[in-house]
Amino acid sequence: MDTGFIKIDPGLDYEKICEQIEPAARIIAEGGLVAFPTETVYGLGANALNEDAAKKIYAAKGRPSDNPLIIHIADIDSLYEIGKDVPDAAIKLAKAFWPGPLTMIVNKKDNIPYTTTGGLDTVAVRFPSHPVARALIQKSGCFIAAPSANTSGRPSPTLAKHVTEDMNGKIEMIVDGGECNIGLESTIVDLTDSKPVILRPGYITLPMIKNLLSECEVDPGIIAADSLKKPKAPGMKYKHYAPKAELTVVDGSEDAVVETINRLSDELRKNGKKVGIIATESTIGRYRGDILENIGSRDDEETIARNLFAVLRDFDEKNVDRIFSESFESPNVGQAIMNRLLKAAGHKVIKAD
Ligand code: AMP
Ligand code: MG
Repeated sequence: MDTGFIKIDPGLDYEKICEQIEPAARIIAEGGLVAFPTETVYGLGANALNEDAAKKIYAAKGRPSDNPLIIHIADIDSLYEIGKDVPDAAIKLAKAFWPGPLTMIVNKKDNIPYTTTGGLDTVAVRFPSHPVARALIQKSGCFIAAPSANTSGRPSPTLAKHVTEDMNGKIEMIVDGGECNIGLESTIVDLTDSKPVILRPGYITLPMIKNLLSECEVDPGIIAADSLKKPKAPGMKYKHYAPKAELTVVDGSEDAVVETINRLSDELRKNGKKVGIIATESTIGRYRGDILENIGSRDDEETIARNLFAVLRDFDEKNVDRIFSESFESPNVGQAIMNRLLKAAGHKVIKAD
């Protein structure tokens, strides 16, 4: 298949964006696949109510069929056309965080096909803030089911060129809207039990949600590597975000981390291996490796989040044999960064202290 490619500047007037999105919207309405930018990562969209279209998403990504898709909407009221018995907590969260990087799980209405929900009676819904995403949903006249637009298991795309790497020839169109601002997938909160549970950490953090709902916890199944609990979001159990080379996270004080990574890197390089290192602004000058990536300043978690997936993809392109990364912990976006990094590392962590 020839994949069409259009570029839309998200800074244009919304009316102009709506005009330019027309060919992509037509493809969605006719049951085809379009990759498009959102504020989190690029999504791979299809009409959520059309089973054949939704099936094509799983095929293009190589995604297991029990891993449900998030349905994207362009106004809060649409939540009631998709969800059944929508709880008050959902309205509170929607008013505070929509449009934005928050996905809510509610019980599904009968019109939502099981292909979209991976066989579940619940459904994931998000109202994105990115103007290109909103224009695509509005102009297509569809609810758009869209997982991240990467081949299953690879780091999520934050630039159109990442989408091209994985999807060229497999989908009808790619809409390039520049770099995704947040760079990590949406926070997922499950509202189908008595207590809200975060199934996937993201830019909207636990303290932000607790501020509104008082009760909320993080799914214990996603925290520990050796947890016996299964994560509640089916997608969280799969290996994900992994670069081709083995990645190890090194945790500890700055000096101990630098010293440990340099020692491991020296050994590997002596044996002819190509070593990549994920460093920060203050440490990058202290490392010995073949490819050093500055992921940003430790004081600026948002930049680190935005750069993470691109840095992981870059190591694939440069064919490194091993990767070491510093560790990023904090109660805020750091939790989402670490969640993705640990999954990418298959939970391999070395304590440097
Ligand atoms: P992606 O859009 O590629 O980031 O994947 C969507 C994520 O949402 C996956 O981790 C899914 O398992 C999760 N998800 C979607 N629908 C549901 C649902 N009904 N219940 C729990 N998790 C869901
Ligand atoms: Mg994904």
